[in-house]
Amino acid sequence: MKIPFKDILDDVTDLAYPEPTGELNPMLKRGESRDYQFPAPLDVAVSFYKAERDLFFDGRVAGEATGTCARCLEAFVLPVVQDFSVILSPEPTGLGREIELAPGDLTLSFYSRGEDVDLTRIVYEQIMLALPIRPLCGEQCRGLCSQCGANRNIKECSCTEETGDPRLAVLRGLKIDRGA
Ligand SMILES: [Zn+2]
Ligand SMILES: [Zn+2]
Repeated sequence: MKIPFKDILDDVTDLAYPEPTGELNPMLKRGESRDYQFPAPLDVAVSFYKAERDLFFDGRVAGEATGTCARCLEAFVLPVVQDFSVILSPEPTGLGREIELAPGDLTLSFYSRGEDVDLTRIVYEQIMLALPIRPLCGEQCRGLCSQCGANRNIKECSCTEETGDPRLAVLRGLKIDRGA
């Protein structure tokens, strides 16, 4: 979605639309979040306006990622919601310009005067920020048995797992006498 510069007014404009993910998915494949894909368009709701020379975009992007769990290798669906607050300043020209970041969760970037604002780029950046680096079907995922490969979320296998340092196993066997 591109927003013509002249459509960004002093008054707030509310916009809700589905953002296609056709260009997002190849970006994910190449980037750090390569285990995620978004099969369906993202739901975007955004309010934008101009104040002085800056453009403000406040909104929310939501979608459903499909991922492959790093522990059990099963496919899973991850609902993703990201609120954002983005300020675009005029592209600095000439000598270095002081950039002051306001406190809070703000992202600062630039726009080129008179050109369309690429809202798709903002939305894609935001949804990528919301993705956990390591895809897990759930925090409690027990992963695969390192010996027989069974998915330990589904069934308990009968392997005895040699985990950790054998010296610690000795400690685990100790009974602590707390006294009477
Ligand atoms: Zn898992
Ligand atoms: Zn096993």
